[in-house]
Amino acid sequence: MGPINAPALTELSRLLEQPGHQIFPDAVWVSGQVEVFKKLRDLEALSLTSELSTGVLCPDCMNGAIQPEHTAHGTRIGIRAYCGECGWVQLSRERACLWQANPAKVAEWLNLALGLKPRHSVTEVVKGVLWHLGEREYKRHRHSLFFGCQIAVNQAYVGKALNQYAAPGADVTITTSDIAELQQGTLNSRVFVPLGAVAQLRKAGLVIENLESYVDGLASVVASNETSLRLMETKRVALIDGNEFPLSPQVFKFLKVLLEADGDEVHKRQIAKALDIPENFRFADIKKRHADVFNTFVDLDKKGNFWVLPDYVFVEGG
Ligand SMILES: [Zn+2]
Repeated sequence: MGPINAPALTELSRLLEQPGHQIFPDAVWVSGQVEVFKKLRDLEALSLTSELSTGVLCPDCMNGAIQPEHTAHGTRIGIRAYCGECGWVQLSRERACLWQANPAKVAEWLNLALGLKPRHSVTEVVKGVLWHLGEREYKRHRHSLFFGCQIAVNQAYVGKALNQYAAPGADVTITTSDIAELQQGTLNSRVFVPLGAVAQLRKAGLVIENLESYVDGLASVVASNETSLRLMETKRVALIDGNEFPLSPQVFKFLKVLLEADGDEVHKRQIAKALDIPENFRFADIKKRHADVFNTFVDLDKKGNFWVLPDYVFVEGG
């Protein structure tokens, strides 16, 4: 079961950012990762809605789109569709109805994994968007923990709810939303932690690692002269002498590839692949708007290898 946990969490995170958290049944069946969806359904993070999809592939001939409709056999309601090649085809709900991800389930898992469960229950504070998970102390500071999805399109509501449920500066929101996008909006002073960076899917829910270091780090940035990539994930910035340098999505990915190599050399080819750009890309073009960042953190050789300078490689647990 191990290898499907990571893709399952990725897929769940992606779905939580879709309007209505929904996915067409065909997308499940032709995804090539049916097991991933089944696992999420077993965990109740994904369920079937009663809404019929508009057009699905005929499961018998896989040739054309057919239109599901309800039929009644006595008291039993079934689903069928007419296929030009196969005639009337019976469809299971799994094949005919929209699937839907359940963000409240993720909130419950987080509440449990963070050890908040016995004393704090989960409260939905912005419908379908934000959940208050509970309160916890980190380094003697009380923090209010939240889970949120689709935050970028609901910033006003989220900001209001955070003000209402947390003391100023004490909110920490774990999210599936794009942090870079949030950095550019009205919530840019809030603390967001990407779900994928701190959570791992296990047999019956989530395990949380490293949240403390995110929360800690964020608290102590003010008025330091730190130079590091520590806030890269949470704030999409590099710190140079205490100043925050915003990272474009491309430069973020570039640095991430290097950091994942733990300071080892990474060839241009691999970087191009991660960035989805041609292998013969010009480094100068990428560096142009981020010269300070690259000059501070990255070195390269003439053979097309890049690496993060040893001082800035993350130390596990450090
Ligand atoms: Zn057919």
